[in-house]
Amino acid sequence: MSSFGSVFLPEMISAVFDGSEWQAPEWVPSDRLTLHPGAHVLHYSSTCFEGLKAFRQPDGRIAIFRMDQNIARMAQSSHLLYLPEFEPQALADMITTAVSRYADEIPTPPESLYIRPTHMGTEPCIGKAAAPSLQSLLFVLLSPVGDYFAGGAKALRLLVEQSAARCAPHMGMVKSGGNYASAMHPTMEARKQFNADQVLFAPGGDVQETGAANFLLIDGNEIITKALDSSFLHGVTRSSILTLARDRGMTVSERELTVAELVERASKPGCEAALSGTAAVLTSVGTLIIDGEEHTIGSGEPGPVVQSLREELNNIQWGKTEDRHGWLTYV
Ligand SMILES: *Cc1c(COP(=O)(O)O)cnc(C)c1O
Repeated sequence: MSSFGSVFLPEMISAVFDGSEWQAPEWVPSDRLTLHPGAHVLHYSSTCFEGLKAFRQPDGRIAIFRMDQNIARMAQSSHLLYLPEFEPQALADMITTAVSRYADEIPTPPESLYIRPTHMGTEPCIGKAAAPSLQSLLFVLLSPVGDYFAGGAKALRLLVEQSAARCAPHMGMVKSGGNYASAMHPTMEARKQFNADQVLFAPGGDVQETGAANFLLIDGNEIITKALDSSFLHGVTRSSILTLARDRGMTVSERELTVAELVERASKPGCEAALSGTAAVLTSVGTLIIDGEEHTIGSGEPGPVVQSLREELNNIQWGKTEDRHGWLTYV
């Protein structure tokens, strides 16, 4: 199977804000875009995106997971970037229209359809370094994706970065392109120097998240993760896993987690850690590299609690377990 996100369905649905109103969404080829070279996004990164998935159900129907949450987050990102506002229902209609059109092409679990709404400032004006784009483009790109764990789930190695932040502190909750550019250098250095899979950003000892996933620590019956603030991305998977953990009677602690506490708990037998995000759902973390020293989390291998929470979430997405929180939208 080709790498995640490299295969696209041939057309996408796209809408233009022309400076005064949204034009009706249109189907356009998904392999090209016409932008003025002076478009705001190309110079000043006025862009945000979302990532959500649609799953084929046992009865053949297609269900989209927690679409309302992703739409709300995209509206918030757009707002914080001063991009033109859109009606949440208009984006919901674009997503369901796009998914319905390609329903027959959506593979069966563990494969799925990854949905990538993207919003960008298109006003052709390079004089607006400190002013918003008054025009924008909103499209919904579709990419069938395979089983993330084909070849077996392996516990990740994370470099814990205490001196650098992933992005500017007020931008953490915005799913915006510039933040990934900002995390690129520390991430590549961590690969090169420590053979790390990802960087866990913990500026000043405050454990936040990695470049594209949230971090969760599981110690016995307790699951610990940073409380929501503007410094990191509020993952839909994070919130879903915490809900499932609460449902099964675990103690959910959304609070500050310091690197010192993380190190102390990590060494306990049975301790587990994971990254959460739409692409990989929940992936075990086995090793932390802190100040050049390696710390194993629990056994260092994928643990049973992470696996069981991942299975439970997958079973809801795949229609094998009752959707008791109403997370699925059928198209
Ligand atoms: C998208 C993303 C996540 C995960 O969010 P989900 O809604 O769970 O997919 C976490 N952190 C960052 C930086 C992200 O971009």
